[in-house]
Amino acid sequence: MAINPVWTDQGGEPSRILLDHCPILEKICALNDSSTPALHLWQARVGEIFTAADPQGDFYRVRLVEKSSQSSLVVPFAKIPNPEPAVPLVLFQALPARERFELILQKAVELGATRIVPYVCRHSIQLEEREARQPKAHGWPRVILRAARQCRRGLIPALSPVMGWTQLLAQTRRLEQCFLCHPQPGAISLWVGLQHATGKSLGLIVGPEGGFAADEIAAAEKNGIQPVSLGPRILRTETAALMALSLASALILGGSQDSR
Ligand code: SAM
Repeated sequence: MAINPVWTDQGGEPSRILLDHCPILEKICALNDSSTPALHLWQARVGEIFTAADPQGDFYRVRLVEKSSQSSLVVPFAKIPNPEPAVPLVLFQALPARERFELILQKAVELGATRIVPYVCRHSIQLEEREARQPKAHGWPRVILRAARQCRRGLIPALSPVMGWTQLLAQTRRLEQCFLCHPQPGAISLWVGLQHATGKSLGLIVGPEGGFAADEIAAAEKNGIQPVSLGPRILRTETAALMALSLASALILGGSQDSR
């Protein structure tokens, strides 16, 4: 089931701004030709500051000084640690009611998610119901863009169309490891699960206010997804998302935080 998205995906790898060569600080540097679409995605204007990577993979804060469809120029003024996580991190988030999703989007960007996948399941609110109360989905890319700019991301995290549970399971097969956050007595904690995670990509699934249906959990387990606990208390879905992302950031995704 693909619910017709009211936005287009405006992030991911094409949003990386790349320098043409390794720069000297405070000296004008050309952007790689492939950065023209990236500047468009960031809605970049001359005078604004962005994060750009050089061919060696070092990151800089740069000021855009000239922008044209042929070539654009920046002045790098500070070298910064790699702001991107060591491995791709996908947050699968059940649609919550009201403005909680906007909060989750903003914080997921800050906490390093590389893709955010909103989904509906048995006990979640449906997109149509949410939009009928107050249309907001059209503003989601803007929330992501603003957060990515604010926290100095090296790319704009991608946003998937809202999907159903079966589609979500198909998406998780592209990831090397995926955890399903579920308050189940006896489940291993996400903390422990992450310590044994060796994957090259990671997915975190956070459920709706109404929790998962038993058959949804069974289908997830059949797909190799491990249910994990976030502790003995029942967290609101937005708290669970932030906790799961924080643990992932701290334990395995901060590996690229070098400041070469
Ligand atoms: N009554 C629901 C249940 O028992 O699943 C509570 C759902 S909780 C408000 C919303 C979502 O946050 C859950 O589906 C789960 O993904 C996550 N969550 C909340 N507390 C959790 C915990 N202690 N451990 C793991 N996941 C948790």
